[in-house]
Amino acid sequence: MKCPKCQTENRQDSKFCINCGESLTSPAPIDDGIRRPSLASKRYAQGKNPILAAILCLLITGLGQVYNGDYLKALVMFLGAVILFAPTAGIGSFLMLIWSVIDAYQVAKGNQSLWK
Ligand SMILES: [Zn+2]
Repeated sequence: MKCPKCQTENRQDSKFCINCGESLTSPAPIDDGIRRPSLASKRYAQGKNPILAAILCLLITGLGQVYNGDYLKALVMFLGAVILFAPTAGIGSFLMLIWSVIDAYQVAKGNQSLWK
């Protein structure tokens, strides 16, 4: 088998490369383009419908985040929309709504991680 590091041909049952000592038992991960939850503490929504998440946000700001399991973000968006409504004549609430819709869609699609 070939060493993934230096391409030296080793015996099939070798555990380490004879040339560079690289471990041959765990082959280098192949990047197949599929997004996986990283080793870091980032979490991603799984099995969520992005369209549904976006529609839920149009009903109530933050509801799509609840659906995605993004509870803290849902709370921030919902309270933000309520608190900003009077001082910004509704503009702040509208921006919260837009953020909520886009975020819910992206998170449900797995393009963006959840808040911790
Ligand atoms: Zn090697």
